[in-house]
Amino acid sequence: MNYTVQQIAEITKATIIGNKDLIIKNIAFDSRIIYSTKNTAFIAINTQKNSGEKFIESAVDRGITTIISEHQYPQFENITWIIVENSVKFLQKLAKYHFENSNIQSIGITGSNGKTILKEWLYQCLWNEFPTVKSPKSFNSQIGLPLSLLQINSTNQLGIFEVGISVPNEMNILENIFHPQIGLLTHIGSAHAANFQSEEHLIDEKIILFKNSDVIIYNGDNILVDSKVKEIYSSKKLISYGLKNANHVFIENNISKDENIIVKYFDEEIKFPAHQRDEATLTNALALITVLKELNISNEKIVDKINALKAVEMRLEAIEGIKSNIVINDSFNLDLDSLKTAMQFLNEYKKSKKSLVLTDIIGVNSNSKELYEEVSELVNEQNFDHLFLIGEEITQFKDLFKAKTFTFVSTQELIDNKSLTEIENQIILLKGARKFEIEKLKDLLELRKHDTVLEVNLNAILHNINYHKSLLKPTTKMMAMVKANAYGLGSYEISEFLQHHHIDYLGVAYADEGVELRKKGITTPIVVMNPEQHSYDAIIQYNLEPEIYSFRVLELFYESVQKSGYDKEYAIHIKLETGMHRLGFKEYELNQLSQSLEYKNLKVQSIFSHLSSSDVPDEREFTLKQLETFGKNSDHLIKNLGYQPLRHILNSSGITNYTDHQHDMVRIGIGMLGESSNAEIQKQLKSSVSFKTVISQISIVENGESVGYSRKYKTDHLTKIATVPVGYADGIPRLIGNQIGNVGINKCFAPIVGNICMDMMMIKVDDIPNVKEGDTVTIFNAKPSLKEFAGYCKTITYEVLTSISPRVKRIYIKD
Ligand SMILES: *Cc1c(COP(=O)(O)O)cnc(C)c1O
Repeated sequence: MNYTVQQIAEITKATIIGNKDLIIKNIAFDSRIIYSTKNTAFIAINTQKNSGEKFIESAVDRGITTIISEHQYPQFENITWIIVENSVKFLQKLAKYHFENSNIQSIGITGSNGKTILKEWLYQCLWNEFPTVKSPKSFNSQIGLPLSLLQINSTNQLGIFEVGISVPNEMNILENIFHPQIGLLTHIGSAHAANFQSEEHLIDEKIILFKNSDVIIYNGDNILVDSKVKEIYSSKKLISYGLKNANHVFIENNISKDENIIVKYFDEEIKFPAHQRDEATLTNALALITVLKELNISNEKIVDKINALKAVEMRLEAIEGIKSNIVINDSFNLDLDSLKTAMQFLNEYKKSKKSLVLTDIIGVNSNSKELYEEVSELVNEQNFDHLFLIGEEITQFKDLFKAKTFTFVSTQELIDNKSLTEIENQIILLKGARKFEIEKLKDLLELRKHDTVLEVNLNAILHNINYHKSLLKPTTKMMAMVKANAYGLGSYEISEFLQHHHIDYLGVAYADEGVELRKKGITTPIVVMNPEQHSYDAIIQYNLEPEIYSFRVLELFYESVQKSGYDKEYAIHIKLETGMHRLGFKEYELNQLSQSLEYKNLKVQSIFSHLSSSDVPDEREFTLKQLETFGKNSDHLIKNLGYQPLRHILNSSGITNYTDHQHDMVRIGIGMLGESSNAEIQKQLKSSVSFKTVISQISIVENGESVGYSRKYKTDHLTKIATVPVGYADGIPRLIGNQIGNVGINKCFAPIVGNICMDMMMIKVDDIPNVKEGDTVTIFNAKPSLKEFAGYCKTITYEVLTSISPRVKRIYIKD
């Protein structure tokens, strides 16, 4: 887009306070990922759940000078305000105008599954045929669709947009903004169906998108879809695809055979090799072919394009590097969009210095000077320390880049040059086109090389947090418990991620855990659950907030506050004893407690307690009693205090089982990692941790031989034994040897045989098909699951996670 503030106001009937002539080319809605402030307006989006106006300050801090908001905040100076009645409607109005006044051909994708994958595939196939714009990520909602449409610029000829709905009547609103010429309806499944009366109702709603389309391409395997589309849109051009032969486009031969797939497109046949033969992939491929045919792409080109398709999932990996570096490996693909995404990812880290390895951008038709000018603008915004350019094309433009720049014709030349391995204490982004194989640099820069890893999926954690939040009132705050190295997963990495996602509080067990977080740049409030006496000074110095659970702690801590010269009210958290009998003030101590607090320069930030059995259904009565005691005792204390601290008592299973008692805040722990004792809840969560290793050696052991220490396993036939490099020093309890525990290999269970050694163990793999050295071995979390593994160990998931040795490398995955 490209409008003046004046034009925006006219289109949307908004009011301007400030400079009418500013030109706006981008609208940013997330203050954390503003990567360029030039010609950018920040929009404070208000939804039922959240107010974006909280983030105006952070947008202004980043240098934004134009703000779209429902309210003006005069404390920010020199800002141009576009004041709107309703932020979401504003976006929709502007997007509708922008779309209707663009000259693009448009494809609109809706359906239950496969929208994002098809959008990405179409984009990969079409971006070098026509200048193409697409929705970022899976932006398809009432807010996401308008933001996507606003990305259309005057050079685009084709737009590919996803449209998603989750409740009735949403599609009418979206169709009013966006009316695609080509409508694509993917698979309709039961996702979201909960909000609709029936499958038919869902279909009726979805196909409203095609009201003004010329062509509708739809998955005809669903009979109801087929009849609905034909009934409502009989006058339009309709093309059905799917695995059934009744469709216009289908697969003619047997898909399970190891031969080329033959697609029948009306009377034509198109042959292509399929690497993946699952039904969902093949059905999506049929949809893709149909759209490409509709855009007059030749059959030969279609086959080439399908062969070149990449898996859509783009994984940015953050790895601990040598010399205290963090290495972000995105050596998967390279175009301007993914470069932007990677830059945003970089901004989430607080390392002050950063370097970039960047290669030629391959396969872009446009003028290379313009392309690299745009690239250099993006790169220069980031103030990189060192820049390593690889490739014959990009190096010609090295003068466009402001950083200290080194140029190389190949990745190997950079490896030989050694300048990269001299970098210290920086964040290094590797961004390259496939053919440059810059993943070799990752091997060079990676700290420990271990085949055994604990992989932590940060997206899954976010999903689990959001799931728990969805059960709560929007105003209820959340504390994330990151004690004991965040249950063994890595306290800094998890806290940094949660801080980025605006968690309200963090909870640690000991002061030194909090100090470490502060030293690494975590600014979120941190509560220390076990403030030891010797650590009070550190607590005060690092602005941590102690749990106060007894008069002794109260008096001693207060003494430290006074000695420190701290002159404001110091925030503390009062722990009440309600039945756990661990720490806390008892009922009969409450009056004395309020007296003791009275003349102290302390601020009771919160009053809380802890449930002993929120995950035990048989103890419901006891738990309700605890909740009642907490309610009553905290009421009493608050009355005496004369002000209103936050109150909280629910842990993860408390959130799901006793939601009504959420008070002002909840404390999530195991739930954010995707574990629940409740089977129904478990289904809604995503597992976030997996512990993996690889087979070091496979031996064929003769009948009657023994395996491992003390000869505890003896073969009774010729047996195939695999040795894997994890042992009890890595956190695998020795008691699960001797066929008590299993590991997963190639999706099968295999028993641990003999005694577990310190650094290794042996697995019987007779029954595993095609097993070979180097194969991945899952300790948990698939087959077996973390729960199953905890079962072998006769303990709970918490203990399993916190027992994994620090020598096991943690890696963090984020899409
Ligand atoms: C660890 C802890 C939690 C979190 O418990 P989960 O069962 O993991 O949700 C909550 N509150 C306190 C005081 C804790 O120590």
